[in-house]
Amino acid sequence: MEFSKIRKEIIRFGRKLVERRLTVGTGGNLSFFERDRDIVLVTPSGIDYFDMDPGDIVMTSPEGNIINSYRNPTTELDLHLALYSLRPDVNAVIHSHSIFATTLASLGWEIPAFSYLVALIGDRVPLAPYDTFGSKGLAEKVSSAIGAYKGILMENHGQISVGKDLTSAFSVAETIEFLSELYWRSRCVGMPTLLEEEEIKRVMEKFSNYGQPGKTRE
Ligand SMILES: [Zn+2]
Repeated sequence: MEFSKIRKEIIRFGRKLVERRLTVGTGGNLSFFERDRDIVLVTPSGIDYFDMDPGDIVMTSPEGNIINSYRNPTTELDLHLALYSLRPDVNAVIHSHSIFATTLASLGWEIPAFSYLVALIGDRVPLAPYDTFGSKGLAEKVSSAIGAYKGILMENHGQISVGKDLTSAFSVAETIEFLSELYWRSRCVGMPTLLEEEEIKRVMEKFSNYGQPGKTRE
């Protein structure tokens, strides 16, 4: 994909984060890894998504060397880069402080298999232990906790989702927020029953063939 198109896509999904109430103001950050050219494009630090221009998106090498950019990258750059280096299947990363996910993360909870929809993320939504925002320690903790999951809660902080493209990573972010709210509501009135390990694995398998995999209009 052309870099100019990727820059616009990052801004479009940043605005969607606000519109879908997954973040407010300048919160959260997004990136895309153009693997063919070994270039990561990432949101700048502290700029409102609705004031952001394509030229504000920061270009960096996978090692974090900034290329031809006049903005500072998000403070969570190390976190994004660590996930790209860990997961060859991942080309997009979205981090946000969505309300219900952050609520559970602040309680130190992960999301167990209380709904079959958890299988869109994995057999559960794990929780990465707390560390200071923007630190290498946080990047390491999230990387060691994420395994093959499509997203993860970050203790006392928020959530992070990954995908083959921005559309998939965004859909995971929305799913995590939806599941967090459902789980929180369930726990407000009782203790939800959990699916058996075998069942959640079966649903994960079913989801891998769900929809229109490999089918495009072209
Ligand atoms: Zn954050």
